[in-house]
Amino acid sequence: MKKILIIGNGISGITAARHIRKFSDFQITVISSETEYFFSRTALMYIFMGHMKFEHTKPYEDWFWKKNRIELKKTYVKEVYVEEKKLITNSEEEIEYDQLILATGSVTNKRGWKGENLKGVQGLVSKQDLDLLEENTINCKQAVIVGGGLIGVELAEMLHTRKIPVKMLVREDAFWGNVLPKPEANLISNHIKKHGIEILHETELSEIIPDENNRVKKIITSNGEGIDCDFVGITTGVKPNIDFLKNSSIEVDKGILVNEYLETNCKDVFAIGDCAQQRTKLGNRNTIEAVWYTGRMMGETLAQTICGNKLPYKPGNWFNSAKFFDIEYQTYGWVFPESREGVDDFYWLNEKEEKCLHFQFEINSRKFLGVNTFGIRLRHEVVDKWLSEELPIEQVISQFSKANFDKEFSKKYHIPLQKEFSKLTKVNQYE
Ligand SMILES: Cc1cc2nc3c(=O)[nH]c(=O)nc-3n(C[C@H](O)[C@H](O)[C@H](O)COP(=O)(O)OP(=O)(O)OC[C@H]3O[C@@H](n4cnc5c(N)ncnc54)[C@H](O)[C@@H]3O)c2cc1C
Repeated sequence: MKKILIIGNGISGITAARHIRKFSDFQITVISSETEYFFSRTALMYIFMGHMKFEHTKPYEDWFWKKNRIELKKTYVKEVYVEEKKLITNSEEEIEYDQLILATGSVTNKRGWKGENLKGVQGLVSKQDLDLLEENTINCKQAVIVGGGLIGVELAEMLHTRKIPVKMLVREDAFWGNVLPKPEANLISNHIKKHGIEILHETELSEIIPDENNRVKKIITSNGEGIDCDFVGITTGVKPNIDFLKNSSIEVDKGILVNEYLETNCKDVFAIGDCAQQRTKLGNRNTIEAVWYTGRMMGETLAQTICGNKLPYKPGNWFNSAKFFDIEYQTYGWVFPESREGVDDFYWLNEKEEKCLHFQFEINSRKFLGVNTFGIRLRHEVVDKWLSEELPIEQVISQFSKANFDKEFSKKYHIPLQKEFSKLTKVNQYE
């Protein structure tokens, strides 16, 4: 019987395993060095904040795996020998496979700063990072977070719930400014500051200074300023976890290079999830996508291929969501941070209530390109359909109430939104 070996028990590896089991009788083994069972990485923050216990982050009961004949092994894979179709673990165990799926996720993207490996300095990606965070923040008087992104803001909120003062170093002049257009980036910066987090914009980390016990006592910023602190959170992004492949013949760049079928350059070796890098860009999407639902989609797609129904990975319209303290954020399609020729913006803001919508559309064809939402949750299936059907922006605005989750929003803001849009386009078609 065909032996399928999966390295990584995150959303992508586990989705592949579950779907291969649905469609086949193959022998399936999943290896991970992090935890025995699959858990939701996106829920790590809620454990620290006391909203959940680790047990609650496991989507499946522990008996599920045996019942479904998915063997789980908790160990680290140190080498992969593709020519011999085998791998070697830390305990020198050799495991053979017929097909290998690499679903090894991400690690913190440290930049080689002086002092980045001192005690009290860490990233936030794994369960081990969470345990370390508990240890590192005992009696913490001042924390510094390096990097303003989604994990950075989560970490700020986590520390804030423990009443630890936080200073954030953000390279851009507004929060997440490399992804968000300026007005939204400012909205989020102000919201985070309102929660008592001090943001130092246009500031980077230069160096981390140790005390006599090799623990962080201070950082120096790129502006030469010294900040006394006893904790440093590194949240300058993540990168594919692929170091263990350096002696193998699997071709890598920043991630493991795959084609649209998620195949690597080596026969019977595939890569999915955060660790995979598309050789060819799929539309405007990044070649590496470190998000939960794309890992799941890759796992589902690859399971079909492994089970004999060869399918390309077609992720559809881009979507992502997050939370910045109290503000829910969603993005659909493309809203580019910088202005582009032939593309126009319609920006609607209710500053007092911290609600914001930012649409982009093609000027000539009127094609709706995407929308960012802050404090307003939209119905995924509705907006996704509008994007796929390439609806003109006028129709999107006139039908906007269909996309709202929140009835209150439709009642209160629908008409002002349409009026404002009419003003912009100088055609009042809604009255
Ligand atoms: C704090 C945080 C919050 C997030 N929040 C969101 C969110 O709100 N929305 C969203 O879409 N995404 C979010 N993400 C991103 C999302 O969690 C990831 O994209 C997703 O979990 C990646 O899944 P994966 O299966 O590719 O890899 P992972 O879940 O990283 O799983 C890979 C596993 O492989 C193991 N492994 C790696 N190498 C080896 C080896 N050599 N031997 C044995 N085991 C190995 C790792 O230890 C790990 O357990 C968040 C990420 C973090 C860190």
